[in-house]
Amino acid sequence: MRRDLWAGLAWLGVLTICVALRVGLGAADSSYLVTVAPYMLVSAGTPVAVLIGTMRHRPPHRSGWFLLAAAQVFYAIADGMTVRDSWLGDFLEPTPADLMYFAYYLLLSAAVLMFIRRRTPGWDMPSAVDALVVAISAGLLSWIYVLQPLTADSELPLNAKLTQSAYPVLDLMVLILAVRLVMGTGTRGPVLYLVLGSLTTMLAVDAAYAVEGIADGGAVFEAYLDAMWMISLGLLGAAALHPGIRRFDQRSETALPDASPARLGVLAVAVLMAPGVQFIEWLRGDPVSVPLISAACAIMFLLVLARMYGLVAAQRRAAVTDSLTGLHTRRHFTQALAVECRRAARAGHGVGLLVIDVDHFKKVNDGYGHPAGDQVLREVARRLATASRAGGVVARYGGEEFVVLAPHTGPGDLHALAERLRTEVAGLPVDAGGHLLSVTVSVGAATTTHPDPESLMHAADEALYAAKAAGRNRCVLAASPQPATT
Ligand code: GH3
Ligand code: MG
Ligand code: MG
Repeated sequence: MRRDLWAGLAWLGVLTICVALRVGLGAADSSYLVTVAPYMLVSAGTPVAVLIGTMRHRPPHRSGWFLLAAAQVFYAIADGMTVRDSWLGDFLEPTPADLMYFAYYLLLSAAVLMFIRRRTPGWDMPSAVDALVVAISAGLLSWIYVLQPLTADSELPLNAKLTQSAYPVLDLMVLILAVRLVMGTGTRGPVLYLVLGSLTTMLAVDAAYAVEGIADGGAVFEAYLDAMWMISLGLLGAAALHPGIRRFDQRSETALPDASPARLGVLAVAVLMAPGVQFIEWLRGDPVSVPLISAACAIMFLLVLARMYGLVAAQRRAAVTDSLTGLHTRRHFTQALAVECRRAARAGHGVGLLVIDVDHFKKVNDGYGHPAGDQVLREVARRLATASRAGGVVARYGGEEFVVLAPHTGPGDLHALAERLRTEVAGLPVDAGGHLLSVTVSVGAATTTHPDPESLMHAADEALYAAKAAGRNRCVLAASPQPATT
């Protein structure tokens, strides 16, 4: 057993005993202060566990965990005050305990937000939209089953209504953050699952409490609710005591596979929740909140549509962008060439094509390794893109071969462009894994006014071959090609 895990296991042991005591004492009808003692022990112990874990494992960024510990201090104080209030009876809402709970929610949310920002490079809009879909769905449930009955309760004074309504709203905020945390990028592992376990347990038991507040269960039910809260607190303490917190908020390098089955499953449940609720309301003969549910459905549908548009756009970008160099792909170039040739034939202007091949590139790979070769390709691509005219298409045709499509270009201008690209590449040495290499390219150029991409490509290829044969690091302009179709 790893020494690292002992503190966490000891904490879970204490938690288990306390939970058993709370449930046992709740059923045994003991005095109030005795029954809540095990609960208070876990509540007060949680900030201590979070602090001990943070100090022991020393994660690179401690601020999120310190915020979490501070949140739990407020929570424990609030719990203490609630015990006192329940014991003394009569109180006016919002009580000092309520204010402490509100402070707890804000600090907890700030801590989770801090974790999300650290784990995610950029804003990760897709995950934010997904979290919003889940939030709208949960918000709808919360409104129909908790907030609406609360506000409709004519016996409840306004201050109590407002105070009691704040809890589901704050829970919703935590839910959005929890969903965003799990859907975003970042290390998966025990700490993430413990934190999520803690948050979802808390949200579930808060929901049960809110509904029970209206339905009013008995002492045994209260004991089980307390036990669930204890488990939520315990999981949070266990997360901080786990050595995995060292890597928990490490910035993620790779994005999660978008639209994974689990993600789609969560979204499907969220989106189907609204019509499902409407159907159940109708079955039970309850008044159906048609405008509200319709609005929720419409907003969720639009959000899902926006996500779909984003996914399709990302796929399209990926299909036309070369992953190594960021230039266009051969596929995009081939389409652009065909379009441009047709347009040129119609308008009667020239279209120019350059085929560019790095000279003796095998020597770079052989001498300095494949990664250094890749670095050279990236730099050559960058220089070609910089030196090309706006409006042209620069693409990686394959391996270390590039193409430039230059619309509205006659032989003279094309040759000048080819020379500019050649000197741009040869002008400065290229850094390849710390070695400064002199890199040159050979360029084959061809122009046409005919709608025949193949013969234009063939002519440029021949010209490139001639440039290589003539000693490399030079440009050769093909004689105007005759289209094969005439
Ligand atoms: P030449 O002057 O005649 O063009 O000589 P060369 O050595 O450049 O010969 P050639 O054009 O046939 O070389 C192609 C080499 O490019 C072979 C292959 O290993 C390398 N290559 C192709 N794609 C990649 C790539 O993505 N990364 C790296 N590092 N090398 C690549
Ligand atoms: Mg080459
Ligand atoms: Mg080649």
